[in-house]
Amino acid sequence: MKVFVHTPELDVGGYPPSSPFNTRRAGMALRTVEQMGTLDGSDRGVVPPVSLSREQLERFHEPRYLDALARASRGEHDLQALRMGLGTPDCPIFPGMLPYVSLAAGGSVVAAGLILAGEAEIAFNPSGGYHHAHPDRASGFCYVNDVVLACMTLAEAGKRVLFLDVDAHHCDGVQDAFYGRSEVMTVSLHESGKTLFPGTGFEEEIGRGEGRGYAVNFPLPVGTYDEAYLRVIDQGALPVIRAFDPDVIVLELGMDSLAGDPLAHLELSNNAYADVVERVRRLGKPILATGGGGYHVENTVRGWALCWSVLCGDQEHHDAMSFGMGGVLLETTEWSGGLRDRTLLTDGGRRGYVDAEIEAMLRRVRSLVFPLHGIDISLP
Ligand SMILES: [Zn+2]
Repeated sequence: MKVFVHTPELDVGGYPPSSPFNTRRAGMALRTVEQMGTLDGSDRGVVPPVSLSREQLERFHEPRYLDALARASRGEHDLQALRMGLGTPDCPIFPGMLPYVSLAAGGSVVAAGLILAGEAEIAFNPSGGYHHAHPDRASGFCYVNDVVLACMTLAEAGKRVLFLDVDAHHCDGVQDAFYGRSEVMTVSLHESGKTLFPGTGFEEEIGRGEGRGYAVNFPLPVGTYDEAYLRVIDQGALPVIRAFDPDVIVLELGMDSLAGDPLAHLELSNNAYADVVERVRRLGKPILATGGGGYHVENTVRGWALCWSVLCGDQEHHDAMSFGMGGVLLETTEWSGGLRDRTLLTDGGRRGYVDAEIEAMLRRVRSLVFPLHGIDISLP
């Protein structure tokens, strides 16, 4: 089964309208895939999330942080909570926040369970992907780390888990959680910490102890475009992923690497996302995909709808289909050309800069990480 995790409950409440993190995107993505017909068929369906219990949350988060989250959810502001990141511009306090984040994060754990039970080979929770949340601290729009909880669920069942993160921001919360462990490998492509929050994810961060070689970071320069990005996937990420040979893949599909995102500075079109997802799908493993960032709402919704169709293996039919549905109304978007972006042109000067930065970065990561997995480091 290919499962889209959502419930209308997630369309009410959610983050305050003043937050750039728009929690309506998941429901909009669902309506878009429904309109596109990519939820039709007996092998596809929508499954509701189940709210995480306190006990489940405590598998990663500290009790005193969860207490603060509960107080904040009742509208109580205090200094202790603020020290744990609650009540900041990025992680505002809003009514019903604990029920909302527990349900949104629960979707990723439900997805992990369906994969473990053999009931889903593809599961997508666009309301998940909170990769910045720490055991004792909210950060970067993230309160509860559903990615860590889903990876833990899979790893505790004996699975080798590959976490691939293509959000524009580094997955600091997830990397920290598994930094000393080898059963969960974290691989992240993100805008360099030199120019973007959270300021981590450099080449030299490769894990420690048993986990050495199982954290892999590809920091990208401002202006990274589709072809350069795919070079990093093909020459950096995929060789390591193949050597690791995971049983299951968790994929964080933050859409803030798209050109035009108001919070980041990468220049991808959603064609690059589609190509990444297709390469991952061809590895032939179950995939648990989550949402994440993405602050241009329409582009994010369209990107997720496109990724869903690629995850489902519809890509071959997709282009033909979008021609036929050229006028499809994607709820709010002005773009009526189907789900795919037009190819973005990158000028020669920008290309030269990005290419040189990426080649140097790739050499560093390959020389640090590849030998630990017995992979030849020479570039093709
Ligand atoms: Zn992000």
